[in-house]
Amino acid sequence: MIHFDQVSKRYDGGFEALSSVSCSIEKGEMVFLTGHSGAGKSTFLNLLTAIEKPSSGQIRVDGQQLNTLTKRDIAFYRRKVGIVHQDHQLIMDQSVFNNVAQPLLIAGEAPNEVKRRVRAALDKVGLLSKEKFNPVQLSGGEQQRVGIARAVVKKPDLILADEPTGNLDPELSRDIMNLFRQFNEVGTTVLIASHDLGLIARLDYRVLSLNQGKLLASPFQ
Ligand code: ADP
Ligand code: ADP
Repeated sequence: MIHFDQVSKRYDGGFEALSSVSCSIEKGEMVFLTGHSGAGKSTFLNLLTAIEKPSSGQIRVDGQQLNTLTKRDIAFYRRKVGIVHQDHQLIMDQSVFNNVAQPLLIAGEAPNEVKRRVRAALDKVGLLSKEKFNPVQLSGGEQQRVGIARAVVKKPDLILADEPTGNLDPELSRDIMNLFRQFNEVGTTVLIASHDLGLIARLDYRVLSLNQGKLLASPFQ
């Protein structure tokens, strides 16, 4: 699903955030990306969402070479990718329903289809009863679950999450990880950047470790 071939990213100003990273993530896998703050996790994810371009090397996702995508291709490619942010980035003065509906409305889906799919996504994260609430009326864990519903509402092939439990206590973090696990169990490829080593250690998934922009050796890469 994801192939990095000797990918380096040097920012303007000369800082090399990723150095010759090569790795593969298979379709249907769930993988953690870990490392200290500044190790390059966000850069890795920003390359995968085509927010950033590599300085050198090739990235292929689901057969597509990201380096060669046009602006139009990128918009189309992003429809297949669900993104979960640490701070969920919900619109606070809009209902939970409208927040989750946003990607479908942008994609021009018909109102009946929007309603059906938003409810299905909210049902999966256990928040169907709160569709009329505003995010401000929800707890931190619930807000993050709305962010996940919004990420999965388009039925993406790939879910990317950047520190999705960064603001949550351990019990809520486990709930969130279980949600990702459920989406993975129905075939979605999941990549989660996290520096919560305690949480990752308790889960039995492959871990890619970054240290100062380099991928640490692992027998499974
Ligand atoms: P995190 O550890 O959660 O990824 P960071 O503090 O490293 O957060 O970065 C937050 C944002 O700020 C990132 O999106 C990154 O693009 C930007 N950023 C980080 N470091 C720099 C920098 N030295 N110069 C410019 N932008 C930066
Ligand atoms: P992480 O997510 O693991 O904290 P990042 O990918 O955010 O790491 O950052 C890796 C390194 O790249 C950091 O030293 C950061 O300061 C730097 N960096 C990130 N974004 C930018 C940017 N837009 N411009 C310059 N430097 C950046």
